[in-house]
Amino acid sequence: MSLLDDVAERDNWRCWVCDEPVDPDMSVNDSRGPSVDSRTADRKAKVPERLAHRGCNTRKGAVKVVIPWAAHLHVVDPAPLMTVATRLDRKGGRETVARCPTRHDADEAAAWLADRFSRLTPDLPVTTKVEPGGGQFLVILATSRR
Ligand SMILES: [Zn+2]
Repeated sequence: MSLLDDVAERDNWRCWVCDEPVDPDMSVNDSRGPSVDSRTADRKAKVPERLAHRGCNTRKGAVKVVIPWAAHLHVVDPAPLMTVATRLDRKGGRETVARCPTRHDADEAAAWLADRFSRLTPDLPVTTKVEPGGGQFLVILATSRR
């Protein structure tokens, strides 16, 4: 097995940046084809290599990776997810990551986040919580890690 196959199997042939499937049969030269993102910008990363579409690959850390929030969510002030993930991984605790106009929106965002983080940071256990605040609903991400 090549490194690409190893990394791809572990990530279930899903791109860690855009969260969409990667086709194993597509050419590695195609922008939708598979590539190994070596994440050299973050040397402390516990999972140093991830599967990414060639076009999503952050190119040796020259550009800081941006993990997009799902377009269908109604969130205000969504936090940059990789920044939040890095902080929670290092310091533990909890952070408000978005505000929502209704509880339904907040519950939807919380469910999406829990699912997304299970793949984004497989080694960082997180829980989500929704709390009312300032006439809106706050979406909170927490980890038990110290
Ligand atoms: Zn991708």
